[in-house]
Amino acid sequence: MSIKPLHLIPDWRGDETLYSWSARMHRLLGGVTKETGKRLFDASHAYKEWAVSTRLDHLELVTGGSLGNIRSILLQRTVLAAYYPFLRAEQRQDFDERAATAQRTPWLTRFGMRASTLDGSEMRWCPCCAEEDVGDWCAARWRLSHQMPGAWWCVEHGMPLNRLTPGRAEWILPGVSESSAQLRLTVGLRQSLLILSALAGSLVGQEQINLVSIKRALLARLRDMGVVTSMKPVSPADLQDWFVKTDLAAAVEQVQPSFQTIFARPWIYETLLKRRSNHPLLWMMLWVAAFEGTSQQEVVRGFHEPDATLIWQEDGQGVLWVEGNFQGDDRVQAIVRSAETIRDAARQLNVSIITVRRYMREAQCAPKLVRAESRRQARKVDALAEIAALIQNKPDVSKTEIHLRCKGAVSWLSKWEPELLASLLAQISEKREKQFGFELRI
Ligand SMILES: [Zn+2]
Repeated sequence: MSIKPLHLIPDWRGDETLYSWSARMHRLLGGVTKETGKRLFDASHAYKEWAVSTRLDHLELVTGGSLGNIRSILLQRTVLAAYYPFLRAEQRQDFDERAATAQRTPWLTRFGMRASTLDGSEMRWCPCCAEEDVGDWCAARWRLSHQMPGAWWCVEHGMPLNRLTPGRAEWILPGVSESSAQLRLTVGLRQSLLILSALAGSLVGQEQINLVSIKRALLARLRDMGVVTSMKPVSPADLQDWFVKTDLAAAVEQVQPSFQTIFARPWIYETLLKRRSNHPLLWMMLWVAAFEGTSQQEVVRGFHEPDATLIWQEDGQGVLWVEGNFQGDDRVQAIVRSAETIRDAARQLNVSIITVRRYMREAQCAPKLVRAESRRQARKVDALAEIAALIQNKPDVSKTEIHLRCKGAVSWLSKWEPELLASLLAQISEKREKQFGFELRI
């Protein structure tokens, strides 16, 4: 390996990618494509590694580390920025160690879920942004935010990004004179692509995404929308049916038809309820679709602070229905109805009492004792209302009259609520006595 330190090392321009910097360097070096690859990465084929280079150790040596350490280059200058926040703890540690020791690593294969249809093999740019860059720096650059998975839209200019699949052996920079990609999309569809792109861009510089909270917030949101209910187990088909009707699904179908194969699978169910790591783009698409109708800022902020989006119910439960073995609705209902008490039903269903209470409210059914109790409550209210109405209509009514005219109510109260009846009648006696006393004085 020949290590010839570079004499002139240009600084990063804005959020340009490592490939963008290399392509500019290629112009400064003035040699042929393969030579630049050898100088920068000790690999003549380095021009093909437009997403991220395997040989960052060599770059570090020839630049004397003046571009920053390997970790910061990976996370600030390559699409690894999109994957790192989603890595599991042990993967994160592996990543950090490899970066710290300048270990040659096929970064995208190892940490980027490269085999997936979700990782495009294209480079994207916005002609308006490119024009601005030429004005500022006399050359266009590849912006990292535009290379992130799901970034199909320029957030700044509100237009679709141009796309290019590098084919020739060259260090290419974005074209300026080219017109922008044409897409006929409704306002709603454009908005969802814009928000998805903004969300993708917001991952740059993030250390970790809280997937547990994201999952919880998504489930709560889907529950609010009625896509899932506490009465039934979560259905993969219901989730798919909901998603295909969103603006985001329609927009992605236009902009990336190959994703149809992914959308045809029960991917939402897998993402939310299976213990497996999933592609960042799946999480982002799901989030944007679920929070459709919310502002760009709120969608992005919510993704980074998912707990803030949860509206906790007064009983402190956000997503009850993940907790249970809630079987099919009919069976659950039969168990609840035939149970003696709420506690009984909860024990049989292996869920909390709070869950049963909510279920009772939503499914309008209750255990035997609860039903008896609620009938009793209703009867009590009726009986009291009947007597109160009589007293109101006839202020001088006597106890005997109440016994006669509200026979049913009085007899029910004397059986079930004798104390209540006694205190009610005591008021009457008092009133009558007072009246009596007044009459006597005359
Ligand atoms: Zn732009």
